[in-house]
Amino acid sequence: SRQIVLASRPHGAPTDENFRLETAALPTVQSGQILVKNEVMSVDPYMRGRMNDTKSYIPPFQIDEPLQGAAAGTVIASESEKIKVGDHVSHQLGWREFAVVDDAAATVIDVEAASASKYLGILGMPGLTAYVGLTEIAKFKQGDVVFVSGAAGAVGSAVGQIAKALGASTVIGSAGSVEKIARLKELGFDEAFNYKEGDVSESLQKAAPDGIDVYYDNVGGDHLQAAIGALRKYGRVAMCGAISQYNATEPEPGPTNLFMAVGKELNLRGFIVGNHYDLAPEFLEHAVGWLQDGTLQADETFRDGLENAPQAFIDLLGGANTGKMIVRL
Ligand code: NDP
Repeated sequence: SRQIVLASRPHGAPTDENFRLETAALPTVQSGQILVKNEVMSVDPYMRGRMNDTKSYIPPFQIDEPLQGAAAGTVIASESEKIKVGDHVSHQLGWREFAVVDDAAATVIDVEAASASKYLGILGMPGLTAYVGLTEIAKFKQGDVVFVSGAAGAVGSAVGQIAKALGASTVIGSAGSVEKIARLKELGFDEAFNYKEGDVSESLQKAAPDGIDVYYDNVGGDHLQAAIGALRKYGRVAMCGAISQYNATEPEPGPTNLFMAVGKELNLRGFIVGNHYDLAPEFLEHAVGWLQDGTLQADETFRDGLENAPQAFIDLLGGANTGKMIVRL
């Protein structure tokens, strides 16, 4: 089976040389396991962190070992009592064509209800991240003015649309291209700006002259600084990610206006979606309905071929995706 291994640890932005395509023999399928032919796999920003040899909430990838991540496919052999041949499943052994998976680590998915890739995006980890960050962490309430960065991405585009669906008064998004800004308007964002075209604080001030109640942070850096400046009294921040810093080789300076959090009595709260799967059933109930009635549109950007997965990952960090970046195998 073909798989992608980590050839070396990236220093700064990852390059082709950090990855290697190789062929490995498949382990035999033991009792309680299934053999999955992967059809789609996910590349996600958090994988950049796992390529560093640092202690984090998730252990680092190992050199010369296959990478891992969300994938979905069809069961072609089964020694499981729970999952049978022909079932479709999602699991965490992506970056390879075939995977032998413990049945307890696989989830049967309904590909009639939504295509397999959706279970890696809106109906999977990124969708839940959007919902948890907005509702549980930022304590969103009706009438809030919400600002989300990384707004055209998998998480960000869901945050903006969910905020609208739940009754936000205004939703503002930032993203990195003219095309993405146009798409955000189509998705129902009230305001959207290209952060590459000007100072983020000034653009946010223009988009939200009366300030914001919630900031959903996917980016960190100058976006976080701008949001702290724009937040109203008792404003709330869901600290979801800081993608502007993932390739940094030195520690980045923090916001210089953090002290404003005192006077405004702000609540800045980080979270890891993996600790909030108790909210998955509640989210899925909403999300399936919203997808069906068109409230929620889940854009996807596709790349084809396992051999192109490293480039898809590199391009994801560079902003090539609108919505969820998916590799079709
Ligand atoms: P996206 O689909 O949003 O893809 C990443 C996007 O980041 C790119 O498309 C690019 O869009 C943007 N980007 C890259 N560099 C920069 C930069 N310097 N400044 C601003 N934007 C940049 O990925 P996800 O939706 O999967 O993830 C979004 C965020 O959520 C990430 O920070 C991720 O780590 C975080 N996350 C956190 C989780 C948690 O449990 N806390 C779980 C899942 C995701 P553009 O063209 O706009 O620059």
